[in-house]
Amino acid sequence: MNTCDVVVIGGGPAGSTVAALLAQQGRHVVLLEKEHHPRFHIGESLLPLNLPLLDQLGVRAEIEKIGMLKYGAEFVSPYHNKSYTYEFADALDKSYPYSYQVRRSEFDHVLIKNAAQRGAQIFEGHRVTSVDFVDDANVTVGAQTKDGEVRQWRARFLVDASGRDTFLADKFGIKRKNPKHNSAALYGHFEGAKRHSGNAEGNISLYWFDHGWFWFIPLHDGTTSVGAVCWPYYMKSRKTNPTQFFLDTIALSPSLAERLKDARLISPATATGNYSYKAQRMMGKNYIMLGDAFAFIDPVFSTGVYLAMDSAFVGAEAVATCLARPAEAGRALRQFDKRIRSGLDTFSWFIYRLTAPSLRDLFIAPSNPLRVQEGVLSLLAGDIFRKEIGLAPKLAIFKVIYYVVNLLNVKRSYAAWRRREQIIRDPQTDGATT
Ligand code: FAD
Repeated sequence: MNTCDVVVIGGGPAGSTVAALLAQQGRHVVLLEKEHHPRFHIGESLLPLNLPLLDQLGVRAEIEKIGMLKYGAEFVSPYHNKSYTYEFADALDKSYPYSYQVRRSEFDHVLIKNAAQRGAQIFEGHRVTSVDFVDDANVTVGAQTKDGEVRQWRARFLVDASGRDTFLADKFGIKRKNPKHNSAALYGHFEGAKRHSGNAEGNISLYWFDHGWFWFIPLHDGTTSVGAVCWPYYMKSRKTNPTQFFLDTIALSPSLAERLKDARLISPATATGNYSYKAQRMMGKNYIMLGDAFAFIDPVFSTGVYLAMDSAFVGAEAVATCLARPAEAGRALRQFDKRIRSGLDTFSWFIYRLTAPSLRDLFIAPSNPLRVQEGVLSLLAGDIFRKEIGLAPKLAIFKVIYYVVNLLNVKRSYAAWRRREQIIRDPQTDGATT
């Protein structure tokens, strides 16, 4: 039995970040990753507020080399025959004007190498298969290598950063489907997609269509990641193979199809099932869950990597306190819990309404009374935690405007709300008859 201070399950953005931060403080950290980096992962669009985190980890220059500059987000609506581009430079705080689009195989590789350089012990090809909480100060973790060897560690603290595998939430039986959301995705990479010019070349584009929305993410190697995020009833209507279904789905959005008309899909399309979930808790006396290991809502607004890395920064502080000053552990863990929930709640309100007609109206023809649009941009940039920028009142005003627009279009809003409720309750239906 090997011993250490902290075992981290998973070497994605959350796991590699928390491992780097704790190892840097002199803790003996063991990170167990079931795959070998570089490995494919979806989730390629970062937010501007990711950049200060990359700075603190000391990896910004490396990410710059593999990243495509992203200055803004374009929303394209067939319902208004119009598009609108939000530029991060117009946010409440103008000092985070861009971010990057990255291949996650490269991005995650940089992060895990950084964790190793900072002193974490990395074991790739080690799938964690067992966790036993011996007592409040000891946990044993078993992992299996690809050739079947079983190894064990005893640690004082466990960090679960196993992503959508949700290792601890499954073990505890506390993973719950999100009762307020339900969607699935289909995605692939194209060569030869039409790009915008100048600074807009690297922007993410979002195309609404009748069954959900698409992302268009230009990558630095010239390829473009395209994905369709759809309601489950639409995914269930598939009669062809995923690749053909993906191409047929793209044809439902003429604006996107136009940008892809000379492009070639370079790998078969991938489908993911409903992925909106949350665990019933994220911490206990000697463990925490980070990033997707606790919850994931939806890819829209590209919040996943940012929230995973942010949870790792806040989580590292909580773990450090638990190890150094056990008397303060309860308070540190509660603060961690509060922060993670507030981030998810802030984005969820917008995620749940993204396909609502009133929100589309507001997003596609924004105005800036009382700097509300700047507030929306701060949200899109991920700048949701810094109280000093005054985001909360701007978002509150935006919500009031949204409810007023709903009232002015009460029949349309009610019909859209009922359809959404029906689709979420019964994923087989398209809600058309409600
Ligand atoms: P992960 O990145 O999933 O890392 C978890 C790691 O744990 C993996 O490397 C895995 O191999 C390892 N692991 C799992 N189980 C074990 C085990 N038992 N033992 C050892 N290792 C294990 N986010 C964005 O920011 N931008 C986007 O554009 C975006 N697009 C998305 C599109 C789709 C369709 C989906 C589903 C998600 C998208 N996301 C996006 C979300 C993003 O992918 C995740 O939120 C992010 O990767 C979470 O990071 P993480 O470190 O928590 O988990």
